Amino acid sequence: MPTVAIVGRPNVGKSTLFNRLVGRKLALVDDRPGVTRDRREGEVRLGHLHFTVIDTAGLEEADAASLAGRMRAQTEAAIAEADAVLFVIDARAGLLPADQPFAELVRRSDKPVILLANKAEGGAGLAGAYEAFGLGLGDPVPVSAEHGEGMGDLLDALAEVLPEPEEDEEADRDRPLKVAIVGRPNAGKSTLINRMLGEERLLVGPEAGITRDSISLDWLWRGRRIKLHDTAGMRRRARIDDKLEKLAVSDGLRAVRFAEVVVVLLDATIPFEKQDLTIVDLVEQEGRALVIGLNKWDLVADQPGLLKDLKEKATRLLPQVRGAAVVPLSGLAGEGVDRLMQAVVAAHEVWNRRVATARINQWLSEAVQANPPPAVSDRRIKIRYATQVKTRPPHFALFGNQLNALPKSYTRYLVNALRDAFDLPGVPIRLSLRTSK
Ligand code: GDP
Repeated sequence: MPTVAIVGRPNVGKSTLFNRLVGRKLALVDDRPGVTRDRREGEVRLGHLHFTVIDTAGLEEADAASLAGRMRAQTEAAIAEADAVLFVIDARAGLLPADQPFAELVRRSDKPVILLANKAEGGAGLAGAYEAFGLGLGDPVPVSAEHGEGMGDLLDALAEVLPEPEEDEEADRDRPLKVAIVGRPNAGKSTLINRMLGEERLLVGPEAGITRDSISLDWLWRGRRIKLHDTAGMRRRARIDDKLEKLAVSDGLRAVRFAEVVVVLLDATIPFEKQDLTIVDLVEQEGRALVIGLNKWDLVADQPGLLKDLKEKATRLLPQVRGAAVVPLSGLAGEGVDRLMQAVVAAHEVWNRRVATARINQWLSEAVQANPPPAVSDRRIKIRYATQVKTRPPHFALFGNQLNALPKSYTRYLVNALRDAFDLPGVPIRLSLRTSK
């Protein structure tokens, strides 16, 4: 569902607009302590539009001393999260200097903005609306949140900038999950894909290639549509060319880019070679989800011993995607293929997961309390607010002061803590720092 942020200086009528859109009078802000009280979110269904609206108004109740910084962090966070911004001014008061910092934040973002000249009931405050042209944020839409005027124009403006949510969400459910099985030559990729597809559709062994024009193969696993990257195609091309080494890397990259979930297939008898680790680096760079397949498990004598050893190695060697599933299997014998696919679907779910902002900020206040950011010379580092700005992979943003001074060890602490708190194994986690000063 798309998200719309209501932004503007205190007293322009943001709360009233929020209540108007959400369609009921809500009690002001919930009174739990902590940062979550600073904002409200509501679900809006108007016409064919369906979106979440974020109100940044609760802050006006906060004490004046900390108001400016928090309001700014709050506003930045809401904008970062939003698909569109409603920038509200008071048409009767006209443009005030106090509007400018908020206008600046909005301008700096690359989000679509709708400029609302509020309190314009009965054509009042038109002069203010004209002044607002000067903001460079487009034509103001005169509205009266209190009297419900101009809502049709507002919706028209929103309809232009918001994606079609319903359709997208439907389509997402039907869309095939894209999987690439990558690994060193002879790890058993083709054998495994053949086993999955249930027929000898890929070439195995040293014989001449078969032709294929598509780069992917469609497969139905337990009623779920899967698109498999055609690994054999990569290999055929590699054979034609002498520059094997170079091609292997670019083909690996192509496979990783194709996929949502990458299965790095290891030959369990020679696991975690340099080439395998290079692929995992690509997975992290490209922001994909990872599952590790331990192939040729039928050749392993001490299975429990080796599994324990390799799980330990995975944790140590692949911290950037900690917790990735490690699944023993035999493509040749057809063992473990179902477990592998269960791990793939689970990793895909984690990759797509969105964590509610209230939960993130609850977590943030605990994480910062348990382990406060270090003081760096005379600078006071303040983390005020956090939100998840993207999925696929999970991407969080921190807002506050002097965040550029945060040491790497501390951001690593936060990423690890996020991974544990919200159960995000096997995916890279992105963290952006948005600092005000
Ligand atoms: P690719 O280069 O990764 O596509 O590897 P292939 O699928 O061509 O397999 C390379 C060799 O490993 C072939 O001789 C396969 O028969 C063998 N192989 C593949 N999977 C397994 C497995 O699970 N167990 C055993 N014992 N051999 C396998």
